[in-house]
Amino acid sequence: MRNVVIIGSGCSGLTAAIYAGRANLKPLVLEGHEPGGQLSLTTHVENFPGFPEGILGPELIENMKKQAAKFGAEFKHGAVTEVDLSRRPFRIQVDGETVEAQTLIVAAGASARLLGLQGERELIGRGLSTCATCDGYFFRGKPIAVVGGGDSAMEEANFLSRYASKVFLIHRRNEFRASKIMIERAKANPKVEFVTPYVIEQILAPEGLVSGVKLKNTENGEAREIPLDGVFVAIGHDPNSTVFKGKLDMDENGYLVAKHGSISNVPGVFIAGDVQDHRYRQAVTAAGSGCMAAIDAEKFLEAHNHA
Ligand code: NAP
Repeated sequence: MRNVVIIGSGCSGLTAAIYAGRANLKPLVLEGHEPGGQLSLTTHVENFPGFPEGILGPELIENMKKQAAKFGAEFKHGAVTEVDLSRRPFRIQVDGETVEAQTLIVAAGASARLLGLQGERELIGRGLSTCATCDGYFFRGKPIAVVGGGDSAMEEANFLSRYASKVFLIHRRNEFRASKIMIERAKANPKVEFVTPYVIEQILAPEGLVSGVKLKNTENGEAREIPLDGVFVAIGHDPNSTVFKGKLDMDENGYLVAKHGSISNVPGVFIAGDVQDHRYRQAVTAAGSGCMAAIDAEKFLEAHNHA
């Protein structure tokens, strides 16, 4: 029986583990299918406070893990396949084992959707990015592409035009899902060129770094190649919330709903990080909400005389 079980080992889950560890709660962190979360898929992180020279994403995560372990956090490999939140202790199935918990912190994160192209994942941090705020700065004075036709793509195209010499906005249709105002703003931006209706067939990276894209027109099949240095995939995120369907409140896109900080609709279950945040999605905001969830869990245990 655990005082606190944390689902997720990204920035949010590990921050929760540091706080719960320092509260002497001996948290157990279930690492999930992508240990370290989205930070482990990036290279340089320059906007996490406290690192004026920047830090590599995997290094930042490793440091957080060490810090949590130092205060007594334990880690378990594997993804959660089922949860029973109908009564406490909660029961969590992970890799065929059952873990029991007095409180649960769900910091399962969200996964950026990728295009599904061969070798795409390996290019993350080598010219391919899913986060304009994180990586835009690295493309100063360079031509890049943004893929997608929703609000994120429009917003990222505008944001990235501050740095890039040129932004090709590649979308598979001539119509856009994005709101009118966002489309108009992107269209009015002299650095943004709309390239529709095209899909990326191949990301060119002969030397392991993105150097261009091979496109295909979805209406007439015409092929086109654009040399560029970066591709920002902005086709949406999927919160990792499937196992909580029907158990925790979520919005129409599957993001869990946290109220007053990290409080869920089930007493004793707390929610943190990108699994509840489709707006900010930053390492520092995920860390902040992980801290909140750990403090809420501690207070809950105190009130129920457990810890
Ligand atoms: P989204 O609205 O779901 O749009 C995803 C876009 O990616 C769509 O244009 C879709 O094309 C395209 N796409 C999906 N899979 C693709 C694939 N495999 N290959 C090529 N293109 C693909 O996602 P989002 O833009 O991230 O926005 C998510 C939510 O956040 C929305 O509700 C949005 O309004 C909101 N948001 C708001 C703001 C703001 O107001 N400032 C900023 C960002 C996001 P199709 O259209 O052809 O399906």
